Amino acid sequence: SLVVKRRMESAGQWARAVAILRELEEKCAAPASKLRQVADAMAVEMHAGLASDGGSKLNMIISYVDNLPTGSEQLQRLSSKACCPAAQVVPTRAAGTKSVGGARTGPRITSPIHFVPAAQELFDYIASELAKFVATEGEGFQLSAGRQRELGFTFSFPVRQTSISSGNLIKWTKGFAIEDTVGQDVVSELTKALERKGLDMHVSALVNDTIGTLAGGRYYDEDVVIAVILGTGTNAAYVECANAIPKWHGLLPKSGEMVINMEWGNFKSSHLPTADYDNELDLDSLNPGEQIFEKMISGMYLGDILRRVLLRIAEETALFGDTVPPNLEVPFLLRTPHMSAVHHDTSPDLRAVARTLQDVLGIHNTSLKTRKLVIEVCEVLAKRGARLAAAGVVGILKKLGRDVAPRDGTPMPRTVIAMDGGLFEHYTRFREHMENTLKELLGDDVFSSIVVVHANDGSGLGAALLAASHSQYLEVET
Ligand code: BGC
Ligand code: MG
Repeated sequence: SLVVKRRMESAGQWARAVAILRELEEKCAAPASKLRQVADAMAVEMHAGLASDGGSKLNMIISYVDNLPTGSEQLQRLSSKACCPAAQVVPTRAAGTKSVGGARTGPRITSPIHFVPAAQELFDYIASELAKFVATEGEGFQLSAGRQRELGFTFSFPVRQTSISSGNLIKWTKGFAIEDTVGQDVVSELTKALERKGLDMHVSALVNDTIGTLAGGRYYDEDVVIAVILGTGTNAAYVECANAIPKWHGLLPKSGEMVINMEWGNFKSSHLPTADYDNELDLDSLNPGEQIFEKMISGMYLGDILRRVLLRIAEETALFGDTVPPNLEVPFLLRTPHMSAVHHDTSPDLRAVARTLQDVLGIHNTSLKTRKLVIEVCEVLAKRGARLAAAGVVGILKKLGRDVAPRDGTPMPRTVIAMDGGLFEHYTRFREHMENTLKELLGDDVFSSIVVVHANDGSGLGAALLAASHSQYLEVET
């Protein structure tokens, strides 16, 4: 029988497991030479996406944000003027709770796949959370007579903006799938839901989370030019010269600048180091062929790639027992926070690894050697994701001409990158690999002009500031 065969082969099984690891390492290898090709390809796609809509896998969305916070805004005054808690729709971290108005509330979702039967439900949910927020915290925000509350709406999905406060959903990402919203204006959907709830509120700014993070980052530091989200999904935004956007046919903004939401999660290139596990994950996903860069980098997927590698080891060796542990076959059961806990285990007997294998996957009695092997798999996958994210950043710097020192000897401009998201915040090894790779690719001199800051929940602040600066009442203010 299979069991007997496996036992007989047990001498060879370790060699088999090591071979699986080595093959993974080889497929996932992202040496500097390869990353430079990825960065080049990213910069090329950025140009193409700015030239025309549909010209690239990168949507390069014009955000209509051409005036970023300066830091001199008076937060209290502005927020009471515009009354804008930022509503955020974000599938968050492990528990997958939704966060609205900054408070972590709402249903606990244990799977990252969000089956919302109709969009109306999602927007009704946001509206009801906002209603609660206004009821409990609204006292601090006194309204002048006859005025509507205003809202900065952070929506962390690709939206083709039609103005600062409107835009049509291009597609869902990150495990959301609600057919009837694609193509629709998410602000009018939210507005209808607000009306159903009897809430008198006006959306003054619709912002992607990257745009919010950039704006929030600018409030504290005027040299922020790039924002990157490394969380459940991944994406970046940056400040572009308005006249470097051929597809922009509007008036040139006074600032001469326009913030672009790249939607880099959809980047794809033959230079990406891809393994079979990636292709299988993509085929099994809700959006095959889409968000390929995101599927190699972000928190929604890393844990599931790990699960797929462990499943292969379980199928081909008896390191996890004589039969394949059923939990290893359950998509998304092993989450990136589990992976992070395993990866960071430094206890002599690798207790956290043992506990995760046991509690999450039902795998008991692993040897120390096997636990070490599991950590090595985490290392390969996290390192690849982090190095690719760094290559993406270098691609942006290249587009901005900030990846090499000026030839005339003038000093490098200081470049601040605002980052946020659970992966960046909580997965230390990932973050270290990313920062080390930036240094490796840019060289010490250029790297010393780069500052990576954690914009902790900066997107909420940024959305609020943008809502305030786009308030419908600004013109009547004296
Ligand atoms: C979405 C982006 C978002 C990113 C980070 C991606 O899946 O397409 O709009 O910025 O996740 O939340
Ligand atoms: Mg945070």
